[in-house]
Amino acid sequence: MIYYSYGDRAIPEIALTFDDGPNPPFTYYLLDILDDLGIRANFFLLGYLAQKYPQAVIEIRDRGHLIGAHGYIHHRKERPDFVLGARILQDITGKRPKFYRPPYGNLKLCQGSPVFSQKDNKIILWDVDPQDWKFLSVDILYQKIKKAVRNGSIIDLHDGSQHYEERGVRPFYMLEVLPRIIQELHSQGFIFKRLDEMKLVPLKF
Ligand SMILES: [Zn+2]
Repeated sequence: MIYYSYGDRAIPEIALTFDDGPNPPFTYYLLDILDDLGIRANFFLLGYLAQKYPQAVIEIRDRGHLIGAHGYIHHRKERPDFVLGARILQDITGKRPKFYRPPYGNLKLCQGSPVFSQKDNKIILWDVDPQDWKFLSVDILYQKIKKAVRNGSIIDLHDGSQHYEERGVRPFYMLEVLPRIIQELHSQGFIFKRLDEMKLVPLKF
């Protein structure tokens, strides 16, 4: 199976990816930040939350971001059901998702799922993981991202959480740091891209 963790290291293009949503109202705050800065990003959505908040999914699409699938549920061992998750997203957006990210980046969870026998479907991991889910401080998060980003980087962030009790608090630091880090990376010459606009480097497992 082929997967991707980064793009061309010779081109100053990077991708912001946001997992575990949609998670209103935080997803809407995030969309406003991205609009203000003129950035298009990538969202890996959970099927059961898309079902609950279809309007947020439509909003993500209408504001020009790429919608990827993160499975129907989010569990360490249970099958994420990529087929059902993708079908829900397709029903809402009218488009079949082509970019997939397994929960926890666990490639084993992709094995055996029929969506990956489809040739144009891509599995996307990341090469920059600032662990925003750990409730680090804004400054630590900022430094972690700044230090790790290189040409072609795919940055893993979260506007949602699979845990209900975390859903209202998890994105706070990320949302606070985001405008600052985007401006910093812009000033270093990086261009933010959708994954379908990037030249990705295929890896195998
Ligand atoms: Zn996740």
